[in-house]
Amino acid sequence: MAKNQKKVGTAKSEIVSDIPLACADEKAAVEFLEKHRWKDAPCCPECGDTDVYTITMRCSDEREKNGRWRCRGCGKLYSVRTGTVMEESRIPLRHWVYAFWRATTSKKGVSAKEIQRHTGVSYKSALFLMHRIRFAMADGLVGKKLSGVVECDEAFIGGKPRHKATENRGLKTKQPIMAMVERNGRVHTRVIANVTGKILKGAIREVVDKASTIMTDENWCYKAIGKEYDGGHKTVNHKKHQYVNGDIYTNTVEGYFSLVKRGVYGIWHNVSRKHLHRYLAATEFRYNHRHLEDGERVVAAIKAGEGKRLVYRKSANMEDAA
Ligand SMILES: [Zn+2]
Repeated sequence: MAKNQKKVGTAKSEIVSDIPLACADEKAAVEFLEKHRWKDAPCCPECGDTDVYTITMRCSDEREKNGRWRCRGCGKLYSVRTGTVMEESRIPLRHWVYAFWRATTSKKGVSAKEIQRHTGVSYKSALFLMHRIRFAMADGLVGKKLSGVVECDEAFIGGKPRHKATENRGLKTKQPIMAMVERNGRVHTRVIANVTGKILKGAIREVVDKASTIMTDENWCYKAIGKEYDGGHKTVNHKKHQYVNGDIYTNTVEGYFSLVKRGVYGIWHNVSRKHLHRYLAATEFRYNHRHLEDGERVVAAIKAGEGKRLVYRKSANMEDAA
C-alpha cells in the first residue's frame, strides 16, 4: 500500500498524513525526523560515515530509548537530535514535531503559550522550543540576492501608532525594522538600529542584486540609491496621497508589514526588542516558503535546523523569557 502510494507520486500529502502520529507518539516522531533528515541513510553527523547501526538502550526513559545510533567509523553515539537545534534538549521529539508543524503552517505564527497548552510542557520549555524553532527558521537568503523589482520600506514595531512623518522620533518605544520584497518573490527583513540613509541603503546594497529596480516611498533616506542599480529607483509619494503610479507602488512590502504586525500584536502580544529578529525570521520563512505544501514546509524548517547547534550556544545567555 505504502509503496503504491509512492509510485503515484503522493509524496507531498504523505508528509502531512505522517505528522499527526508523529505529534502523538514518540517512536513515530523519531522515525519521522530520521526519515526527513537522512532519507534511507542515517549517516554519522560527526564523520559522515554511513556504516552505522542502531542500538537499543536499556532504560525506561522513552526519550533515551528510541533512535540511538552508533558509527562504526568514528565510534560516536548519536541520534537525530545531534547537530541540530534539538540537541541538548530533553523535550520529547513529538513536541518538537508539533511545534515545527504549528510554527511553519499557521499564518500568523504560534505563541509559546499555545504550545504549552497543547503539549503540556512547561512555559519555560515551550519558550525554549519556540526560540530554537524560530532560530532554525532564520535561514536568510541562502546566498542568493533579491532581484527583479524590489520594494523596500521601513516600519516600526511596538508603542502607539504614530504618523509616519514623526516616527523617527519615537525610537524609545518603537523598534524600526526594514523589509525588502521581490514582486512575486522572496522577502528579507531585518531589525535596524535607526532609520538613516546609511543603514537603509547599506541593507539594500547587501541584499539586492545590482541589476534590480528599487521601489520605495518618498523617504529621503533612499535618495540616490538609483544610481547604483541598473533598473534605477522609482518612488511613490505617500505624503501627496500617491499610492500607485502605473507599475510603481510599494503595496507588496506594505502588505508584508501588515502581516508582521498582525502576528506581533495578535499572537505574541508583546515581543521584546531582543527577540524581535526571531519573530521576523519566522514570518519571513513562512512567506518565502509559501508555495510549498504544508508538509514540505515543515520538513524545510526541520532541515534548516541542521548545523545550528554551535551558533545557538554563543547566544544562549540571551534566551530568557520574551
Ligand atoms: Zn562517525
